[in-house]
Amino acid sequence: MESVTFESSEDIRVVPSFDLLGLREDLLRGIYSYGFEKPSAVQQRAILPIIEGRDVIVQSQAGTGKTCVFCVAALQSLDLSVREPQCLILSPTRELAEQSQRVAMALGDYMSVQVHACIGGKSLAEDIRRLDHGVHIVSGTPGRVFDMIQRRNLRTRSIRLLILDEADEMLSKGFKDQVYDIYRYLPFNTQCIVVSATLPKEILIMTENFMKNPVKILVKRDELSLEGIKQFFVAVEKEEWKFDTLCDLYDTLVITQAVIFVNTRRKVEWLTGKMREANFTVAMMHGEMPQKERDAIMEDFRSGTSRVLIATDIWGRGLDVQQVSLVINYDIPTNRELYIHRIGRSGRYGRKGVAINLVRNEDVRLLRDIEQYYSTQIDEMPKDIAELI
Ligand code: ADP
Repeated sequence: MESVTFESSEDIRVVPSFDLLGLREDLLRGIYSYGFEKPSAVQQRAILPIIEGRDVIVQSQAGTGKTCVFCVAALQSLDLSVREPQCLILSPTRELAEQSQRVAMALGDYMSVQVHACIGGKSLAEDIRRLDHGVHIVSGTPGRVFDMIQRRNLRTRSIRLLILDEADEMLSKGFKDQVYDIYRYLPFNTQCIVVSATLPKEILIMTENFMKNPVKILVKRDELSLEGIKQFFVAVEKEEWKFDTLCDLYDTLVITQAVIFVNTRRKVEWLTGKMREANFTVAMMHGEMPQKERDAIMEDFRSGTSRVLIATDIWGRGLDVQQVSLVINYDIPTNRELYIHRIGRSGRYGRKGVAINLVRNEDVRLLRDIEQYYSTQIDEMPKDIAELI
């Protein structure tokens, strides 16, 4: 195990334009009409080895363009004349699976590609109908995907590419067995891509079980700089004083769009109730809501109809809403990775963002730990915070 190196591979080619990647014309057209002009740093490095057929591990900060890395590579790898799943994207949440589906559809707009989101909480019959009709890419959550494989509606014989998005989560206790169950059904030579903003060492070691001599494109910890995101704390001292602090901040929140994170589902409900009682308009979302409701909430938030969302960490991972430039940690997250995932919601793709942490006395150490770990700076919130947003 000691021989494992966690550096980026040497000799990674940097391809500075989409034109130079040798992509199919119809895909290139889709990329440009989606509004991209040039590949982001991670795209310049990771797309090429994937389309060359290598197993690849990609780690880079939230919002740097990883989803587009694997969507472009997946689209490029397809044989559209074969109407069977050739690429399988697995994500830990339904929203992420749908987001990848949407991005693949959008980038593949000129390719007549069929991309299906195979997720829990949606109609089984519709899944079966779509799969039987024939799709090229399946983006799903492990439970439903495995179910469809076992029912033989999702045929795996043509799958050549497996993508694990948010791989640290996919390979952690909750999902690992399901992912391995699915993996066992895939053809022997399936190419594997592992993508995440954070990849703890034990997860990287685990990838050796199923990846062949992977190209590693890893951003070192101190490069995960949270650059472009201003981080502040408010010393609330006690739990009871958080609520008033939040109410005082409300006018600031609605300047743009904000997500308020708390650590539990029950607290989402409690805080939402309390904010509404005090006549503030807020939306809420957590993992145990019915899928329809979650979809509607996301839609309202994306369109800007709702501006303040109270959520658990289900929202923290990878969801992309461009306008969110403010994140409030009503509760400090219980681990450092979650902090990056939450804060990564603001400042997408180089936009600036602001994060505000409400800290009780007992949280001070945790926050200092985060600050040190990521070599970043978290200052006391200034009075003119509204002007920074
Ligand atoms: P990640 O998966 O790393 O969180 P995404 O792929 O979701 O990042 O990209 C983050 C945001 O940046 C998205 O809104 C996406 O449309 C945008 N984006 C990604 N790549 C580019 C690019 N090359 N040019 C412009 N915008 C991009």
